[in-house]
Amino acid sequence: MPTSSFSGDLRAGVHGRFAARAHRDDSDAQKLNDQVMRMLDLATSRHPEFEQDCLSDPWRIAEHWREEVRIERVGSITEQVLNRFGSVVDDDGSGVIGLFSAARSRRWRHRIQVQFKGEYDARSNFTLMHEIGHYLQQTDDELATVLSGIGSQNGDHNLEETACNRFASLALLPDSYVTGILQGHPVDAIAVNRLFDRGRSSSLRSVRVSRPVVARRMADFLQCPGTVTLLQGGRRGDRRVEEARFDECRINVRTHAGGMAEYEGDLTDLERDMLERLRKGEGKPQSHEFTKPDGTRVRASIAESRGRYLSYFIVIKEEPPRS
Ligand SMILES: [Zn+2]
Repeated sequence: MPTSSFSGDLRAGVHGRFAARAHRDDSDAQKLNDQVMRMLDLATSRHPEFEQDCLSDPWRIAEHWREEVRIERVGSITEQVLNRFGSVVDDDGSGVIGLFSAARSRRWRHRIQVQFKGEYDARSNFTLMHEIGHYLQQTDDELATVLSGIGSQNGDHNLEETACNRFASLALLPDSYVTGILQGHPVDAIAVNRLFDRGRSSSLRSVRVSRPVVARRMADFLQCPGTVTLLQGGRRGDRRVEEARFDECRINVRTHAGGMAEYEGDLTDLERDMLERLRKGEGKPQSHEFTKPDGTRVRASIAESRGRYLSYFIVIKEEPPRS
């Protein structure tokens, strides 16, 4: 795969995403987009194998970038270290952390530590890429200037963190990879589930990306207003949980086309309806289409994702009537 396809594809995808969005925070979105594109360009220009590493085994980056940054997996990152450097990533609220510490002088190397318990590669992959995002933004003059050029300190920090998450998402799930799995089909819950499952097949285990990251990223590929929702319930196999499986589902993330994400709140009536259809269908994926009085065509789908915990992807798309 030519190196240029990486940033080229991503550029098209991200510009498209933000172009479709008409919010008053357009300039913030543009700033974020520009920052992330520069990060990807920088990573690819310094390390032409970056794209391939991301898609095969992100931990190869530790070897390929070793001259400039020391990257290591550690059993735990102590609070003492965290208090001193204080860069934490927690991609889905489960307390997984990583740390970037800039070299204090030329005699030292920059350092990235990723907490790794050896059981869930998706989290450590994302954390690694997030911390590489900090490394790039804090050590490249152009990227650092963007951060320091923003008025409030809070603004800097938010942009830096958001850019790290977006960089990790695009590096692990580039447009070319996602469209290759979609194979021209529109996004629905089965496709979202397939993308998640692809990452955990044994041969490609290392590019596994967590469900919340997949759900957030797939909203980039909705071609009309809509949402990609990840619902999560209790641990599978617990009888009480199995019996109450549909009642106890909570929103993990609901991402709207355009990028806005919600992490809490009630299920919508249509999301509840889709869960009920799945229950009646004995857990098989379901789809449902109808037309609203105003002519909007609604296409909803749900698929259960296998795992230790009950998880469901729901995709809802609302195609406006053709005028
Ligand atoms: Zn961070």
